[in-house]
Order: sequence, then C-alpha cells, then structure tokens
Amino acid sequence: MESIVVVFSKPGAGKGTRIGKFEASNGHLFDVLSVGDMLRAERKKQTELGKKAESYMKSGQLVPDEIINEIVINSLKTEKNPVITDGYPRTVAQAEAMLDAGIIPEIVIELEVPDNIVIERAKDRIVCSECGASYTLNEYHAPKKAGICDKCSGKLIKREDDNEETVKERLKVYHEETYPALKVFKNYGVEIYKVDNTKDQEATERFEELLIMALSK
Ligand code: AMP
Repeated sequence: MESIVVVFSKPGAGKGTRIGKFEASNGHLFDVLSVGDMLRAERKKQTELGKKAESYMKSGQLVPDEIINEIVINSLKTEKNPVITDGYPRTVAQAEAMLDAGIIPEIVIELEVPDNIVIERAKDRIVCSECGASYTLNEYHAPKKAGICDKCSGKLIKREDDNEETVKERLKVYHEETYPALKVFKNYGVEIYKVDNTKDQEATERFEELLIMALSK
C-alpha cells in the first residue's frame, strides 16, 4: 500500500482549499479521498447510500460508522497511489477500523483554526456543484471567473450545511466525536503535525513540506 496522509480539521477550516492549493503548485501527487464529496455524489445519484446519508448531512451529524467504514476501507485497500484522506476518520471507531484493517497513515496533519474563524469562513465559502472544489466569496481563494469552477467549469453554489446553525452543530460534533480520534493515532505511534491554518503563506509552505516528507517515508 502507498503512503497515506490523514488530514484532520474542523469542518470548514480549509482542508479542501489547502489540498487544492497543494495540487495547484505540485500537480497530482496524491489521490484525494474526500468522504463528503463521495457522499454528495451518492446523494446526487439518489443511490441507497445517498438516501441514507441525506438527513445526517443536512443536520450536521455524522453518517453512521458502519456505512462509512465499509466504503472507505474498501476504497483505501484498492488504492494504487499515495492518498490524502479528507474527512476520514471522523470518529474513534473509524480510526480504529482503519488501523485494524492494516491501513496505517505515514503522518497525520492537524489543521488548526479557532471556532469563531470557522464560523466566519463558512459564510464566505462556495463549492463546485460538479467536482466539490472549494472557493471563497472574498479574495482569499476566489475563482478566476465569478460563480464558475476553475477546474471543471461547474457552477459554484453555497453548501446547504454552511448555514450558521448547522456549522455550530458540526463544530460540536467535531469536538465531541472527531477530535478524540487523533488520540487513537497518537497512541499507535503515528506522528501528528499541527499546522496553523490561519496564516496562509506559512500554512501553504508547511503543508507542502509535510506532504513531500510523507511521500519519501
Ligand atoms: P465534509 O464535506 O467533509 O464537510 O462532510 C460533509 C458531511 O458528510 C458531514 O457533515 C457528515 O454528515 C458527512 N461525512 C463526511 N465524512 C464523514 C465521516 N468520515 N463519517 C461520517 N460522516 C461523514
């Protein structure tokens, strides 16, 4: 199995944007496994999985572990390329399932952003309705052409779960259910690197350095 890097952060703290910026300057060195994007694609196709996930996603809750573990572990096991997991694991049970399946991350990167900034950023976030790429309404990571995705020309929209009430609920879920999963990796001996994601330039450089280091491990 190739290198696996787990990127941990609060929802809306900038994982997608950070990964997008890395790819824009380094090319496609990693496949990106975004569970949120996988689930949104299933909902669009109205599959059984998509229908099951819908109510959880709308209310900012996590989709049950059994459903998520089945799809993600299978997909990680068949990966031929280095992978970044964006939004997995999000619970202690998911982190344990990953290790139990013999999928051991090279490193874990924790992007740090205070809650109040996450709430502010969600107001400015827009995403591609086709490929899921994230942008901002402000100049921080604006698309080249307003309302249009730089990567695939898809239409940019607001996410239904980026309203303030749902963002606060998602933050609560992060603190209660996701943050403790970091400890599972720590106890296993996986190195955890913190990156301050409020400082764009420094975060870009550090994130790049860590991903390149993971590839050479
Ligand atoms: P994201 O796009 O990563 O913010 O994820 C959007 C939503 O998808 C989350 O609020 C959850 O409802 C669901 N989701 C994404 N990843 C997971 C996961 N690892 N476990 C459970 N639910 C997830």
